[in-house]
Amino acid sequence: MKKIQMVDLKGQYEGIKDQVNTSFQEVIENAAFINGPEVQQFQKDLEDYLQVKHVIPCANGTDALQIAMMGLGLKPGDEVITADFTFAATVEVIALLQLTPVLVDVEPDTFNIDPEAIKKAITPKTKAIVPVHLFGQPANMDAIMEIAEEHNLYVIEDNAQAIGGNYHSKNGKTQKTGAIGHIGATSFFPSKNLGCYGDGGAIFTNDDEMAHTIRGIVNHGMYERYHHDVVGVNSRLDSLQAAVLRAKLPKLDSYNEARKKSAVKYSEALKGQEDVITPVLLGKEDTHVYHQYTLKIINGKRDALAKHLQEKGIPFGIYYPIPLHKQKAYVDSRYNEADFPVTNHLVQEVLSLPMHTELDDEQIEYISKTILDF
Ligand SMILES: *Cc1c(COP(=O)(O)O)cnc(C)c1O
Repeated sequence: MKKIQMVDLKGQYEGIKDQVNTSFQEVIENAAFINGPEVQQFQKDLEDYLQVKHVIPCANGTDALQIAMMGLGLKPGDEVITADFTFAATVEVIALLQLTPVLVDVEPDTFNIDPEAIKKAITPKTKAIVPVHLFGQPANMDAIMEIAEEHNLYVIEDNAQAIGGNYHSKNGKTQKTGAIGHIGATSFFPSKNLGCYGDGGAIFTNDDEMAHTIRGIVNHGMYERYHHDVVGVNSRLDSLQAAVLRAKLPKLDSYNEARKKSAVKYSEALKGQEDVITPVLLGKEDTHVYHQYTLKIINGKRDALAKHLQEKGIPFGIYYPIPLHKQKAYVDSRYNEADFPVTNHLVQEVLSLPMHTELDDEQIEYISKTILDF
């Protein structure tokens, strides 16, 4: 059996080696390391793939979220609602911009932000909602967009874990996740579903004016060379990273398909176990892109299982072990423990199994059997 890894980027590289090596060579020969033709072309490729009017590449997913919020012109003290159960980047940029993060609970099945909790958290200061499509499954965008419309709020989708997923709206429309709200933000961190070989990110929007604003913000607030109209940042995707992403984008659907197949196999092998809850797919099959395959291990057995897996040499992840509202940086006296029943449970139950494009049947069987034996 091949060595089991949480992600296998080396194995994936074998399938795109020639193309990546050739385009790396070209970038080096052309010496257009920043904003070279590869970046421009990748931007267009991604616009086509996502069916979104504007893609603005940037340096990483955290920057993408920050720049999205800067683009909306939010002011210190404005409240931004986001999920309590996610990676800290989302809440970090809210706080960094001196906006007020308002963390709310998530749904027990999908781990995604709970629209009812959003409604309860809205105040006259609320300006935006940041749903995270956690582990690759879209949040309830129908409900979120409805709430946003009713209260005149912006929606920034954190699509870092869900690129390539579809969302089927109640009205029959199908869109790519990240292209539904006012702005989408994503990360090309190597282990993401579409990852480069370093850091990278992008912002998406269908709004021409917003796109123009954001293109200036990523480039020191410049709309005309050496004229700085707004306070911006320096955040760019470099040409070598764009070359990797161009090689991988045409394969994204098949990569996501491979993840899905592995997820189905895991769920088949683990079904019917009293203490194991396999991921719940709420929409159609093409909605979930399984950035993570995350189990809930109930009845207090998670940590013992984790120890067992460790002993058997099977890697796993606990995403995430602490609710954001309990992180030192984000504690806020306004929060009430009773408002976070789901997150407080999830942090004790979740366990993510190895999930990547190169998993084979033998590995999945071995991992599943090890869990069943336990
Ligand atoms: C990875 C990730 C980010 C941040 O992306 P970076 O490229 O690492 O800055 C933000 N939000 C979520 C949900 C993520 O998973």
